[in-house]
Amino acid sequence: MEPILTLEHLTKKYGSLTAVSDLSFTINKGNVYGILGPNGSGKSTTLGVVLNVVNKTAGNFKWFDGNTTTHDALKKVGAIIERPNFYPYMTGYENLKLVCKIKGVDTSKIKEKLEIVDLFDRKHHKFQTYSLGMKQRLAIASALLNDPEILILDEPTNGLDPKGIHQIREIIKDIAAQGTTILLASHLLDEVEKVCSHVVVLRKGVKLYSGRVDEMVSSHGFFELKTTQQTELIALLEKNKAFGSIKTQGDLITAFLNEPMKSDELNSFLFKNNIVLSHLVQRKESLEEQFLKLTDNN
Ligand code: ADP
Ligand code: MG
Repeated sequence: MEPILTLEHLTKKYGSLTAVSDLSFTINKGNVYGILGPNGSGKSTTLGVVLNVVNKTAGNFKWFDGNTTTHDALKKVGAIIERPNFYPYMTGYENLKLVCKIKGVDTSKIKEKLEIVDLFDRKHHKFQTYSLGMKQRLAIASALLNDPEILILDEPTNGLDPKGIHQIREIIKDIAAQGTTILLASHLLDEVEKVCSHVVVLRKGVKLYSGRVDEMVSSHGFFELKTTQQTELIALLEKNKAFGSIKTQGDLITAFLNEPMKSDELNSFLFKNNIVLSHLVQRKESLEEQFLKLTDNN
């Protein structure tokens, strides 16, 4: 595994508000990472710190092997953290030519990058005639001009229509398939689920989960139970280390598993302890339910 970016106990405070709190994670080469969290959870602040546009309060971050200065490392980073800003009266092509000049990149790169974002046919049209989705795609092409090791995108599909959203997501997947590491911030669970292999879930600046997206789905699930002996049932489940949290809503008890257990196992265990169920359903949470549980205020 080749690290691209490592955060170690990173904290950012704005006055008394802690926007990012003691955040640690590593981004390795070749994966697509999502920073997922509701609005205000510290996603943009985190990206701002590692891109040197926001000063950290405490902790550390290092790019690549840690021996590269942030200044040098950022030459190998492509980032879009604000609404794309190009010259409206210039064409897409002319705008990218200007970016090449600023970045010291050969203009021969422009064609390849415009093709990746499917804008080659529109290259001689003025930027101001582009749809929002096309503007965002031009920004991605621009960020790719210097063949970055990693592409960083903050809420890449915000404000786009469904077709525009789909196009951007497909482009991100294509870029990743060609070996570019990607880090994107999003408040949309389904975006992360569709595009990312790995995720860091934030709530109020605190990391709730980091790991593979598919492992986030593979929890052991939960049982929904009903009985007239509610108190006895809850007491029994609370003593059993196979169970984590136990919630009661009216006559329905939801018991979350810490380890695998089959419904017939549970049923016979309860029966041996003189508890008779009137309702037993085993379920796994969808990623959405897990995300809501993780970001729940409880
Ligand atoms: P996200 O990108 O997840 O929506 P942000 O990183 O933008 O979250 O914001 C995290 C928290 O920090 C929010 O409570 C936000 O109001 C606050 N915040 C962000 N930028 C500033 C700033 N420049 N000054 C003061 N507070 C800020
Ligand atoms: Mg943000």
